[in-house]
Amino acid sequence: MIKVGITGGIGSGKSTVCKVFRVLGVPVFEADSIAKQLMNTDLLLQKKLIDLFGPSVYQQDQTIDRKYLAGIVFNNPSLLGQLNEIVHPAVRKAFDEWCLTQQAPYVIHEAAILFESGFYKMMDKTITVVTDTEERVDRVVKRDHSTAELVIQRMKNQWSDKERIKLADFVIGNNDQELIIPQIVEIDKKIRAHG
Ligand code: ATP
Repeated sequence: MIKVGITGGIGSGKSTVCKVFRVLGVPVFEADSIAKQLMNTDLLLQKKLIDLFGPSVYQQDQTIDRKYLAGIVFNNPSLLGQLNEIVHPAVRKAFDEWCLTQQAPYVIHEAAILFESGFYKMMDKTITVVTDTEERVDRVVKRDHSTAELVIQRMKNQWSDKERIKLADFVIGNNDQELIIPQIVEIDKKIRAHG
């Protein structure tokens, strides 16, 4: 089965693009939300997180305290790296198991840090969604009722479009004046034809 990774900076429109792929019948594995789920359900992962960050990383109802965790790893690349080292193998395992249950010519793995994490090496093809920074900030501020400063801070933890484009097999432009559906249909055709 062909594995296609989709990435893009915060607010670039990864999820929006994936919605279109789903309509075309392509199964999508949302790595970021699966990672969050696993932190609440995977006992081995929970133990490792508690060993590293202490019991306060879980709330009374046993769900991960994402705000607390974000506060610890924010601006601490070493701890962020350790967090990723714990979470990524669990996500990889979940993805491998999920792939075995899918019946489609290809599947999509959607992740914000596909390249940064090295996960792209497991993919046969990669796609990056590119949108101007200003547009992304506006969209995320509206979507999350966040502030421009916070969004820009999060962008600083991710690669630039330039770096992502260098490694991607396909690029989807998602600025206001660009139509994503024809771009997606074209890529879908190419992947189905050549893998
Ligand atoms: P994140 O990295 O934060 O998960 P994302 O890359 O998955 O973000 P989306 O959630 O798909 O991005 O898009 C960000 C916001 O912009 C959403 O509210 C979405 O509805 C909106 N959006 C996406 N594409 C467009 C577009 N072409 N025109 C207008 N709004 C858009």
